[in-house]
Amino acid sequence: MRDPFRLDGRTALVTGANRGLGRAFAQALAEAGADVVLVGRDDARNRAAADEIAASTGRRTTVCTGDVTDRDDVLRIAGEAIEAHGRLDVLVNNAGTCFHGRALEVPDEEFDEVFEVNVSGLWRMTKAVAPHMIEAERGSIVNIGSMSGLVVNRPQWQPAYNASKAAVHQLTKSLAAEWAPYGIRVNALAPGYVKTEMAPVDEPRFRQHWIEDAPMRRYATPEEIAPSVVYLASDASSFTTGSVLVADGGYTVH
Ligand code: NDP
Repeated sequence: MRDPFRLDGRTALVTGANRGLGRAFAQALAEAGADVVLVGRDDARNRAAADEIAASTGRRTTVCTGDVTDRDDVLRIAGEAIEAHGRLDVLVNNAGTCFHGRALEVPDEEFDEVFEVNVSGLWRMTKAVAPHMIEAERGSIVNIGSMSGLVVNRPQWQPAYNASKAAVHQLTKSLAAEWAPYGIRVNALAPGYVKTEMAPVDEPRFRQHWIEDAPMRRYATPEEIAPSVVYLASDASSFTTGSVLVADGGYTVH
């Protein structure tokens, strides 16, 4: 029987793929057999990640440098990816941003930027890729949400980020319902604290709330979150759509 977690012959596009979680997702998808399109704004970092993944997995990797908040970039990226690979089976909307600050001190521009990247960027990329998936009558979209869409983190305040991730989860469910008849599954992954440039997991002032009070009493590495994306991208989750898969070391149980 074919291994349902394998992605041989398929192509996956990952936004924010040059570092952190997205880098680990791109690596894991390639290890599962997929060719991978890496998207991010920093061309040099994109190319370095793409070369490393191709060298270590033998899969074909393509770089599409651009900004998910730029409509023209997004349309170009989708077009280049499909032209280069002839197909796009998996879309991982991972690019995201976060600022810490008390609500009354958050400038409107910062609030807008968080929604531009985390929600509108995801929306635009999804709309650019979905017509191709609808035509192919198959596809898996994995949106990277967060446990911050389910609970309010402390002690740092991040109101825009939390609201944006709740929006990602609800948008995921909306698109899952609408596109199930086309064979497209849409799911979200909600990680807890993961050691990346975005999350200062080693800062002593966060240790009590982020680490000590959590059931597993540790943060995750990107590599241990990545198999959850392979699961949602692959036929292993063929009857799963509109789900929010939480991978948070038990953080949201309380
Ligand atoms: P990082 O800040 O480490 O990486 C963000 C990635 O997104 C980079 O590759 C960056 O590349 C890319 N990116 C940012 N803005 C844009 C943009 N406008 N257009 C294209 N690419 C962009 O973040 P993480 O790896 O920590 O986070 C990845 C995702 O996981 C995010 O959605 C985040 O909200 C979510 N998450 C993270 C958690 C954590 O603890 N780390 C927990 C829960 C969820 P470049 O700068 O070159 O564009």
